[in-house]
Amino acid sequence: MSENCLFCNIISGTVPADKVDENDLALAFRDINPQAPAHILVIPKLHIASTLELNDDNSQYLQAVTQMANAIAKNEDLSDQGFRWVINTGKYGGQTVDHLHLHILGGRQLNWPPG
Ligand code: AMP
Ligand code: ZN
Repeated sequence: MSENCLFCNIISGTVPADKVDENDLALAFRDINPQAPAHILVIPKLHIASTLELNDDNSQYLQAVTQMANAIAKNEDLSDQGFRWVINTGKYGGQTVDHLHLHILGGRQLNWPPG
């Protein structure tokens, strides 16, 4: 828990969120500024600032995030047409919240390459 972290405050309930799924290790909620018909964020319930902080000691959180993301893709009917996972890291990666989060984007044709 990092007190001035927005997503830690969503985990603690201090900041509200439109929750989609939750277990002991991960939490999913709808992005406040959706970029596709389905845009859900899945976060570890541990303050991991970015992908650069992943290691053997916290890898169970990444596993929980990816497992939850697949369950959500199926529940939200995204798996037949396909969807995209995005994790932004750092300034050039476009990361604006320094708590690791996996974006699930789906419900429309997504373009490639990204901007
Ligand atoms: P990133 O740019 O990869 O760091 O993604 C951060 C994401 O968090 C953006 O897509 C924002 O729209 C989203 N976001 C910011 N504040 C909130 C919030 N209070 N609830 C839900 N999503 C948020
Ligand atoms: Zn945090």
